[in-house]
Amino acid sequence: MAEIIIKNVRKEFGDFTAVKESSFTIGDGEFFMLLGPSGCGKTTTLRMIAGLELPTSGEIYLDGEEISQKPPSQRDIAFVFQMFALYPHMNVYKNLSYPLISQGMKRAAVKAKIDEVARILGIENILKKPVGGLSGGDRQRVALGRAIVRDPKAFMMDEPLGALDAEFREHMSEELRALHDRMGATTVYVTHDQLEAMQMGDKIVVMNNAVVEQFGKPQDIYDMPATMFVADFIGSPSMNFLSFEGQVAEGAQSVEMDGRKLGVPRQMQGASGRLVYGVRPEHIELSDSGDYRGEIIATEYLGTTQIITMTTPNGELKARVPAGKSARVGEKIGLGFDAATVTLFEENTGRALR
Ligand code: ATP
Repeated sequence: MAEIIIKNVRKEFGDFTAVKESSFTIGDGEFFMLLGPSGCGKTTTLRMIAGLELPTSGEIYLDGEEISQKPPSQRDIAFVFQMFALYPHMNVYKNLSYPLISQGMKRAAVKAKIDEVARILGIENILKKPVGGLSGGDRQRVALGRAIVRDPKAFMMDEPLGALDAEFREHMSEELRALHDRMGATTVYVTHDQLEAMQMGDKIVVMNNAVVEQFGKPQDIYDMPATMFVADFIGSPSMNFLSFEGQVAEGAQSVEMDGRKLGVPRQMQGASGRLVYGVRPEHIELSDSGDYRGEIIATEYLGTTQIITMTTPNGELKARVPAGKSARVGEKIGLGFDAATVTLFEENTGRALR
């Protein structure tokens, strides 16, 4: 078991707070993503789990044992640095054996372990090559191998694919996910790329401004964002926000926006004042009828779908519709929203109403 529990963890650097009281649980064997914009505190969180930074307050547990203040060497957690953190003058075998020999492992055991890891990673044929001359992908595999040979309880990865170009990055992310599925080791992975997080992660923590905004499965975060920040950060194009003064009528599953009734997924008690109607581009239907209308100002063809940008009485809005749907710039068109998928937010707090 390698369950990691983060409980009320806070990190200050002098008078700057990099991570405010954060709590979440990383399940045994999960591929777990720490997602958020630059500077939000994800690397600091990862480094605290690995022991490279110590929390100012709060607790971290690995396998039920508190490790918050232990040095990295006593945590049995491997940290995979961004690519290329290898010894360039040594060959692949030496790069892989170094951590084992420094642990005092016997030569024959080292060889057996490296043979096993090389087989898992498919790098048996490059063990004698110096890492300086390897391709990006092979270097990435060797960097992973360096972490794997130690048989750690969990892996920490900080944007390991950050330096790769888009196509190769996608290939390596698939390979990494497949490797994880074979080995089943708990992995915590930092990224600022929401698509990468959605595609690779079993669970995601979304951070912003040193705070955990939401924690859950990718689909739940996408379908039920807890805040406007999360709704905006996840998904492309992002969720549309229609801001209005209104209230959910007593006993009704609709909200009144400038005299029009718009559906909401369920009855929401006490929803009134400045509200935001959040609807994803793929949940908007364009029709000739309908009294809520927008004027098309741009169309973007994407092959199977197209993105239609419109102005509406409540702001600009993007809809994703089938590519075959006719839509001309300048046209005024009726808009239908799929009420079951809508999220209603309180504007001043940015929090979703449940
Ligand atoms: P990025 O993707 O840019 O690395 P991040 O979300 O990983 O962003 P962190 O690296 O955790 O963010 O940094 C969070 C904040 O803490 C940043 O403002 C950073 O400047 C600050 N910070 C990180 N380490 C230190 C340090 N050792 N001393 C002072 N401030 C730090």
